[in-house]
Amino acid sequence: MMIFMLAMTMPGSQASDLPLSKYCLIPVPEKTIDFKPPCKTAILSALGPTDQLLPDLAKAFELSDDFPRLTRPQPGDWLAVHHEEGQPVAEFVNCDWNRPDATRHKIYLQPLGEFVRGHGPPLERLRELASAYFTLEVELLPVLEINGPTLTTRINRLTGNRQLLVDDLLARLQKRLPADAFCLLGITDQDLYPEPEWNFVFGIATLRQRVGVISWARYDPALYGEPRGRDFRKLLLKRTAKVMIHEIGHMYGLLHCIYGKCIMNGSNHLPEGDQRPPHLCPVCLRKLHQAVGFDITSRYRQLLQVYQKCGFEAEAQWIKRRLRNLQADN
Ligand SMILES: [Zn+2]
Ligand SMILES: [Zn+2]
Repeated sequence: MMIFMLAMTMPGSQASDLPLSKYCLIPVPEKTIDFKPPCKTAILSALGPTDQLLPDLAKAFELSDDFPRLTRPQPGDWLAVHHEEGQPVAEFVNCDWNRPDATRHKIYLQPLGEFVRGHGPPLERLRELASAYFTLEVELLPVLEINGPTLTTRINRLTGNRQLLVDDLLARLQKRLPADAFCLLGITDQDLYPEPEWNFVFGIATLRQRVGVISWARYDPALYGEPRGRDFRKLLLKRTAKVMIHEIGHMYGLLHCIYGKCIMNGSNHLPEGDQRPPHLCPVCLRKLHQAVGFDITSRYRQLLQVYQKCGFEAEAQWIKRRLRNLQADN
């Protein structure tokens, strides 16, 4: 099973010098990858020719100033510890990834266990956001309790908290995949781990089996013994929304992005995830557009409404600017 993960840290190594260690517990990697962000020519090559497209569409995929370029990774960042090839649009198109169709046309969100009242991200907002982002109907399922003897758990030695093994959750979700589901994403407040030597994972999605699971445990300052700030719920919503989009993106066959700052960038620790924008870079936007076929500006307008409802001011401003730029005369 091919699985893509959002975050990892390995316990058992030397304590990290990184200022991030409090949040990510990342050891200093023994071998850092010398990743150099691709040049404009390489990004354009990954994007593919746009001269046959309608002008509005070609403009939507331009490498404009709306899309910040990647910078070289810092020690401990995803691209410093994971080798990523990148996935050009042509490669994506030529691979038979899952697509919504007449039979499988709904995204399902599955809360796993009841969240402590008032502390979880507002699920209805996540539902609206996923629907606007992927231009698909999204249904929120009733809570599914996830205790039981078939679940593998452990106590994380660095936090002292219980963690759930991801595979067991994915197996449960797989059995419950509705007939009309394009994909099913579980959401839990329990900390997750993907295999014994890993410290934790924020989220995980299968590329083919159409199930995934995300956890907001690591987005809660309480996990680190810190107080929840005044904007805690908004921050929690934003972080959970971003991991949700990233993992659903994987279920469309979008691999990790190396072409610009993009929601499909890998993220190895919390600050790196926080710096990642919620939007798709032109290469990934073109892939999702190819898979789904939405109207670019209508989708941005829908997203703008949801961002405003969520109180995501900077993200709403980005979309407003983007819409202005797309509508400006060439
Ligand atoms: Zn990922
Ligand atoms: Zn991208």
